[in-house]
Amino acid sequence: MLAERLPSILPPLSPDDAVTVTSIHSLAGTFNADAGLLTRPPLRAPHHTATRAAVVGGGTGTPRPGDVSLAHRGVLFLDEAPEFSAGVLDCLRQPLESGVVTIDRVGGRATYPAAFQLVLAANPCPCGRATGRGLECTCTSLQRRRYFSRLSGPLLDRVDIQVEVAAVTADDLAAGTAGEPSAVVAARVAEARARAARRLADTPWRLMGEVPGGWLRSPASGTDASLLTPLMTALDRGDLTLRGVDRVLRLAWTLADLGARPAPTPTDIGAALALRTRGARP
Ligand SMILES: [Zn+2]
Repeated sequence: MLAERLPSILPPLSPDDAVTVTSIHSLAGTFNADAGLLTRPPLRAPHHTATRAAVVGGGTGTPRPGDVSLAHRGVLFLDEAPEFSAGVLDCLRQPLESGVVTIDRVGGRATYPAAFQLVLAANPCPCGRATGRGLECTCTSLQRRRYFSRLSGPLLDRVDIQVEVAAVTADDLAAGTAGEPSAVVAARVAEARARAARRLADTPWRLMGEVPGGWLRSPASGTDASLLTPLMTALDRGDLTLRGVDRVLRLAWTLADLGARPAPTPTDIGAALALRTRGARP
């Protein structure tokens, strides 16, 4: 439910993105001309039985865009992610890194935009009952390990935030603590994006997700050199890859933007590290 509501807190598409996203949907045959230009970030949620061609793109003749491209500038949500085929999951790495996907077919090669936010959801175990004390769970430890091993290290290395979401209890419902409305969160996201855009005004990038790691680690980005120390220690210990270092830095900048701070603090770095390593619970 949270994943499906993520697009509602994202800012509307820029005019350029609206044209690109609409073109992709038109090419794929999923565009409804009566509805006009697509101006909201799209959500794609393929089923875990979806083929590689459906998710990544393909088909006979000229390759058609798949879900990764139809989710461009929006959200790609894979529910029960470990149930997807390894072939499909591995194919996500190229677009996650480059924001584009290249499809080779007999009929020719096509490159489509594919810059999406990836949301993966997984049960705690194959039977799905290993929450809380997990007394109801009937899975063996081998079954649990196998289940999660399908989400490969290289894919998880490209995931910035991992959170455990506890099941809703009757007490939670009775307490009636309603969360913030999406519109309130959306305003905060828009403000954070505006801060990032102002800071990046003299660069080719608009979003923190687009900023290359080398620049992010350089003084030009405004990243205080002392913030890098704990990350470089983690890199040397093998706890973080270089990609992981860059992703923690990006997330720390986003946390600073959300908190209206001019630059990340050591606390932002710590929070970003905890979110990456499943050290945090919502
Ligand atoms: Zn289980």
